[in-house]
Amino acid sequence: MRATIRLGRIAGVRIGVHWSVLVIFAVITVGLARNRLPDARPGYSWAAYWVVGLLTAAVFFASLLAHELAHAVVARRNGIDVDDIVLWLLGGVARLKGEASNPGAELRIAGVGPLVSLALGIMFGLCAWLVNVTSGGGLAVEAPAWLAAINILLAVFNSIPAAPLDGGRLLRALLWWRTGDRLRAITGAAAAGRGFGWFLVIFGLFLFARGDAFGGLWPALIGWFLVAAATMEARQAHLRETLAGIPVRNAMTREPVTVSESTTVAEFLLGPHYRYPHSAFPVTDHVGAPVGLLTLDTARHVVEQRRGTVTAGEIMLPLSQVTVVGPDDPLAELLPRLESGPEHRVLVVDDGRLLGLLSPSDVTRMVTWLVTTDPRRRGR
Ligand SMILES: [Zn+2]
Repeated sequence: MRATIRLGRIAGVRIGVHWSVLVIFAVITVGLARNRLPDARPGYSWAAYWVVGLLTAAVFFASLLAHELAHAVVARRNGIDVDDIVLWLLGGVARLKGEASNPGAELRIAGVGPLVSLALGIMFGLCAWLVNVTSGGGLAVEAPAWLAAINILLAVFNSIPAAPLDGGRLLRALLWWRTGDRLRAITGAAAAGRGFGWFLVIFGLFLFARGDAFGGLWPALIGWFLVAAATMEARQAHLRETLAGIPVRNAMTREPVTVSESTTVAEFLLGPHYRYPHSAFPVTDHVGAPVGLLTLDTARHVVEQRRGTVTAGEIMLPLSQVTVVGPDDPLAELLPRLESGPEHRVLVVDDGRLLGLLSPSDVTRMVTWLVTTDPRRRGR
């Protein structure tokens, strides 16, 4: 899930939203303004319901963000870099650049999220109670009361021991600690995740069959997402196991074709030496040091008339936004950050010198080679 819009940084962590967050924001705001608030506290103007509905939905997303920020901050304290936090249709995701190194770290990183939601729930509950005794009820009570309920619900739902929910990570930490086998722990938590996911799908279909199409949609959607994500986690864990001990340099494409930052878009698109079956090229400065990554797609988006003047350096993805690794970094550690798409190339740099380029297909090739030549890596 990549952010459509970047909102900035909080505590050094990049925050972004995916466009799908608008859907859930609208569902919540409309639900509050049209149903929940008027039903619970009748007699206000429609404008009052909409204003309170909007504000409440905004505070709800701030609580989601607080939950994810807690994961991110604790992850960083446990030595794991955080890519960013993205809010989307089904909540928030804090994307970590690595994996916990021991069960204790896993437990702390996963556990803090539901704890924050629970603390927020209690805080909003106290707010509602205080407003109720001092001002005697009304919309000003209903908003924090709803926020209290939804945050406590979030804490409880996220604690269900099914990957990729926080509870699934807690289960993984527990299994890992009990067996000392990380892969078995991940496989176990993922199996629980798939089981719970299918349960939600069937529950959603059951509601659907009873005529509650909208009520059935969410469990089915969340269930489907859990099944897919849990399956993916188990697969990645097996992949990591297969790639254990393999450095990046063994899989990378060596001496990739580069583009100078002063090359114009026209030269780049028409130049015969760029007619390779690649869709992304490292960009280098006048001394040949890597400064960014240019995709064919970005270049094609430059309007025809400007292609003669716009340079690669102006439209490239700067190095700060590209994943850069060293040649001896373990390949397995890269897996969570290797997504498909041309902009997801990884630059392999040593001492400021570009050594190679790594794409998901390079990794796939490596895996195929490993399982065909080394039977011990097969089917683990
Ligand atoms: Zn969480």
